[in-house]
Amino acid sequence: MPEIRVDDALPVPLPDPVRAALAAPMVDHHCHGVRRDDLSRSEFEILITEAGTPAPPGTTHFDTPAGLGIRRWCAPVLDLEPHVSPAVYLSRRAELGAAEVNRRLLRRAGVAAFLVDTGLDRPELLTAAEMGRTGGAAADEVVRLEQVEQEVAVAGLSAVGYVKALREELAARAARAVGLKSIAAYRCGLGFDPSRPSRGAVIAAAGRRLSDPKERLTDPVLVRHLLWAAVDVARERSLPLQFHCGFGDTDLDLHAADPSLLTGFIRAVAPAGMPVVLLHCYPFHRQAAYLAAVFPHVYADVGLALTYTAGGSAAVLREMLELVPFHKQMFSSDCYGLAELCLLGAVYHRRGLARVLAERIEEGEWSVADAARVAHMIGSGNARRVYRL
Ligand SMILES: [Zn+2]
Repeated sequence: MPEIRVDDALPVPLPDPVRAALAAPMVDHHCHGVRRDDLSRSEFEILITEAGTPAPPGTTHFDTPAGLGIRRWCAPVLDLEPHVSPAVYLSRRAELGAAEVNRRLLRRAGVAAFLVDTGLDRPELLTAAEMGRTGGAAADEVVRLEQVEQEVAVAGLSAVGYVKALREELAARAARAVGLKSIAAYRCGLGFDPSRPSRGAVIAAAGRRLSDPKERLTDPVLVRHLLWAAVDVARERSLPLQFHCGFGDTDLDLHAADPSLLTGFIRAVAPAGMPVVLLHCYPFHRQAAYLAAVFPHVYADVGLALTYTAGGSAAVLREMLELVPFHKQMFSSDCYGLAELCLLGAVYHRRGLARVLAERIEEGEWSVADAARVAHMIGSGNARRVYRL
């Protein structure tokens, strides 16, 4: 089977500079490790959905936009015809083995650097460095705040010791990272009081927390304390602070993950000067585009919405690009567990953006040079600037 070039996957004719800009290696500024082990069909199916449960009896998670996307775009990378059945795809996957499949799919994504959220540290997931080696790319770590907090909470400290250790541990982890990430959306929702909690309130809340430290952190006072401690560290090191927004798994109350709920916090941290990066955002990507348009320190992506809307991804990007400043949007695959999801994120970013750029050029709105410049900014330039890569 002949080698597939990245720009062969573009769905519309485009001038050469725009094709080249879309095909150029990208920075995947938010992703997770992929599984190093071989997977059964049921394990694979759970990883192509955010549902966390098997499809109803007699049905399959392959009958989703992402499932059909895997059969279309990942099959040829494993030397199969496009659209082969799930059974054929998975048997070829097993035959090649996870290491070879990961190598092929991550490399075909055309990614120059992976910024890996290491908050779901599990031995079966590739580490940030392994993602880089496997994908033929650079790799850096983004520290998940709630994971650092959990480690400190179980260390058997007093409330005062917890507050001190949290600050020190955040600073130590940040020294080796290119960004910090919060999943407050999953814990108390994004509509929290944006002000910095008082030391007294934090010590009291920490006392309650430490009586049952294995529970995950949900107390809004301590979530706010964690965020403000992160702001202090991020400001010292000029690190961006990422927030999970919108689309996620069933742990999430979607309405509590609307990024516009963060408006007060975004205002409050503006003087600190570090970038606030809104991840995923779907279906609130228009809110995210608005926030990026009006606050100088706010950036946004649509992340895994492109993977999971797959053939419909152009519509999502079209809405995002209605308003977002082009120096504010970034690419991420948000892949987790499967290298297929990294490839799909990249394919559907390039395909969706190709359609929108072609429309702008055809309508006489943008020059070819401007369209190419926008593709470069979103694909890699903005992330290189924001994360100082
Ligand atoms: Zn993620």
